[in-house]
Amino acid sequence: MLNQTRDHLLLGGDAQRRYVVAGNAMLTLRSNNTDTHVTYRVEASEDLRHWLVYHLIDGGMRTPVLIGWIRRSTLAFSFRKVESVRTAGHSRAIAAWGWWWKQAATGATAPNVEVWGSGVCARCGRDLTDPLSARRGIGPVCWVHVQAILDVRPRLAGLAEALRADGFASPLWAHAPAEVCTVEAEHLAVLFEHLSAGTVANIAQVLELLYALEVSPAALRTLAGVAGALAVHAEGQKGERKALREALAEIAPPARLAGWWVPTTEEVKAAA
Ligand SMILES: [Zn+2]
Repeated sequence: MLNQTRDHLLLGGDAQRRYVVAGNAMLTLRSNNTDTHVTYRVEASEDLRHWLVYHLIDGGMRTPVLIGWIRRSTLAFSFRKVESVRTAGHSRAIAAWGWWWKQAATGATAPNVEVWGSGVCARCGRDLTDPLSARRGIGPVCWVHVQAILDVRPRLAGLAEALRADGFASPLWAHAPAEVCTVEAEHLAVLFEHLSAGTVANIAQVLELLYALEVSPAALRTLAGVAGALAVHAEGQKGERKALREALAEIAPPARLAGWWVPTTEEVKAAA
């Protein structure tokens, strides 16, 4: 029996992928065909380079078994299973996850499977109070962090491409702050490429370039604010991440990425 209320049934498609990569997600896959279910926990690694997938047995009462991990490349989130003595008895859970994730990783909804969340935020563990957050399984603050990884980075890569192709003539620049457009297009493209790669080393490079390029103080603050927001989820050691965030915060507080002028994926596609 699923010991969950209807409120914890997650939205389909891309929302399920977002839930899994939030950082600390517990989810149950229920097959409508066989009326069976399996529960998993997916944790981001300390350096945020990959996500560890555990099979939870008896509702998490027994020690979770690591069944594999998810890695992100530029285009895909791929799952690799662990093959060991410990995972030998978990082949059904591994196969179910592998089949489901292959579809969910692309933002598709797997047929005949219900995906249940835990009822608390998949990143910070706080209670979810509003109905939309409950269906996403992620609270509003943590949702912005997930967007930083899944939306903002690819859009920055799209902006870098547009700058290289058309400079500021690309329609994507219509809503950009004036101070950012004072930076040379070629330099800005390099900065955005680093920001879209998103590792601690990349963002540290952005900080150095911002000083080396002698951009205006207003542009420096705007770009440092964006870099600071992305540094929260930069891939790298925890200590390095913290030091980088602090260095950037000395220039400007982290920008709110939701509602920032970075164009949507559709806008990037339309302008290409
Ligand atoms: Zn949260």
